[in-house]
Amino acid sequence: MDAKNAPAMNIDSTMLPPATAAILETVFDLFGVLDTDGRVVSVTGRIFRGMNTNPELLKGQAFSETVFWQSSEMTSKLLAKAISGAASGGNARLIVDFRVSADDKVPMEVSVQPLPGFDLVFISGQTVSERRLRAGQTREAREQLLFAAENAAIGLWFWDFAEDRIYSTASCNELFGLAAYETFRYEDFREAIHAEDREFVDHFLADSRDRGSKYEEEFRVVYSDGSMEWLSAEGRSFLDENGKPQRMTGVVRKITEQKLAAEEIAKVHEREKKAREEAVEANRAKDFFLAFVSHELRGQLNNILGWLNIARTKSVDEEKRENALAIVERSARQQKKLIDDLVDSARVASGRLRLEYYPTNLYEIVRNSWQAHLPSAQERNIQLEFSSDRESVPLFGDASRLLQVFGNLLSNALKYTPEGGRVSINIETSDESVRVQVVDTGQGIDPDQLPNVFRQFSAVAADRFNPGLGLGLSIVKILVTKHGGIVRAESEGVGKGSAFTVSLPLTETPLADDVEPTSRPVRGKPLAGMTILIVEDDPDSREVLEFFLSEKGARVRSCDSVRSALTSFGANGLPHIIISDLGMPDEDGYSFIQKVRGLPMESGGAVPAIALSAFTSEESRRKALELGFSKYCTKPFEHDQLVKDVLELLDRN
Ligand code: ADP
Repeated sequence: MDAKNAPAMNIDSTMLPPATAAILETVFDLFGVLDTDGRVVSVTGRIFRGMNTNPELLKGQAFSETVFWQSSEMTSKLLAKAISGAASGGNARLIVDFRVSADDKVPMEVSVQPLPGFDLVFISGQTVSERRLRAGQTREAREQLLFAAENAAIGLWFWDFAEDRIYSTASCNELFGLAAYETFRYEDFREAIHAEDREFVDHFLADSRDRGSKYEEEFRVVYSDGSMEWLSAEGRSFLDENGKPQRMTGVVRKITEQKLAAEEIAKVHEREKKAREEAVEANRAKDFFLAFVSHELRGQLNNILGWLNIARTKSVDEEKRENALAIVERSARQQKKLIDDLVDSARVASGRLRLEYYPTNLYEIVRNSWQAHLPSAQERNIQLEFSSDRESVPLFGDASRLLQVFGNLLSNALKYTPEGGRVSINIETSDESVRVQVVDTGQGIDPDQLPNVFRQFSAVAADRFNPGLGLGLSIVKILVTKHGGIVRAESEGVGKGSAFTVSLPLTETPLADDVEPTSRPVRGKPLAGMTILIVEDDPDSREVLEFFLSEKGARVRSCDSVRSALTSFGANGLPHIIISDLGMPDEDGYSFIQKVRGLPMESGGAVPAIALSAFTSEESRRKALELGFSKYCTKPFEHDQLVKDVLELLDRN
């Protein structure tokens, strides 16, 4: 049924005489009866006709919950309360907004009262004009409201489009840096708006003005002293009955602090997000790195175990056995280098890489390094050359670390050069510095990758199938830098070979004649006549050590625990030297050395002792030396070095 032509009411047909119904219709915009639960029995009125709504459809619905009272959260609750009050005998009158459309609402004075004897509630509503609404407020109340707004530092303004004048409160003017008690035009306010925000403000105000709509925006203002504040502006425009813009009202307030706080929060959030992403990335890199390291270690272990198995079978000939052992040795050495590199990197990362500087002859170091690589060059049919313009290159440095530098450069050159290629290491001195260049005819380096080769894990990131970890060159760079030098990589491109140049400053003092070459192989039986006490719980390690020291001529006494070592210590005469493990199950090497050092001289309290441990940390080295060990060696032990250490200690004593 068309709402406009609906009968004036349906109450009249059932309950009211037509004249009464007609009177109600003229007096009220809305009227009707509800049951005591607030459900519509019948509601009607001219307001529904204006809205093109058929109130018949409301029957049975909880009236306070219908769409008309959804203008604010409170409206429907207030109405529901009034209706239930009337159902239990009270009268109520309230002014609430009645929603006439999605965008529009009108204030309506609603009365609810009981209908005695009917178990019904009568509800009626009359729209109220703005004027009548405000008439309820005294002049004083209005002033108090303005005063409150001023004190809350809220600026109020009202723009009359017809007069093109803006009426504003003092605090509103002040927020725009204008004189408090003058009247301004839009252009005056606009002047104060930040140049970058002006167009945006023009735009949203024009939009609100043309559409009679609400706005809520934020922008910046700049004062004559150059300071800046953020303002928030909220308000709406009204159109007249012909749809022509009539006026605009608004509230402005300063929100600089909130804005800055929000920006700060956003920054913190951004930082936190970045940190989280970095942590995820670091974790991913760590996982990949661990997988990679374990893959490397396993690969070499696999070689070792596989070839050992072959070597053990009776059917292999001597040549094959030799070959198997050579591979086992090479794999074990690669493992050692890998672990050394890892440990060095960890030391560098924690700032604990310590170097011991002595006058050294770089010529000897480079020559030793070259010699050490000759067998692997031969094996791969690579020509490995060495040249130097002098045989004495005095330098203040850590010989073993410099050996590591050239060892890394040479093993890289051999690793990345195919069979039949050429590698050379060459020393060139000037008055104050020395240049050592390692040049190869190998695979070369992509110019894009050149700047990265000295970065940790560069190889891992660049190429997962690379046989290295990408630690070697980063360590080279750190060691060279610690010697006051620089290292440079050059390559004309992939397939065109590479050149690595290390430049180091020379010392002024010439080398003493007796400077010991860095590592001269120890031959024969240098330990003949010496008794060495070994304390080692691991039977395999013990056996290797026993075998090696006996080979070198020493008489060896072995103990598998601190307790048995202490018992047999002086039993058949004192040993000349002790070599002891540190980590042992019942009592460790630290405790052992403390007990030995607690003995009187004649009972062996001063017998020199070497700690031989798999712990590589500075901490365990320091502790061992502090508690009384004379030297600290790490496992796997370097054969020649161990003999030299033993001889040196015996010399000292
Ligand atoms: P890696 O353990 O991978 O050899 P390095 O730090 O020693 O790690 O070297 C980093 C990367 O630099 C290598 O992976 C390789 O790509 C490149 N590189 C180093 N030396 C050479 C060389 N002589 N020829 C070609 N590329 C090289």
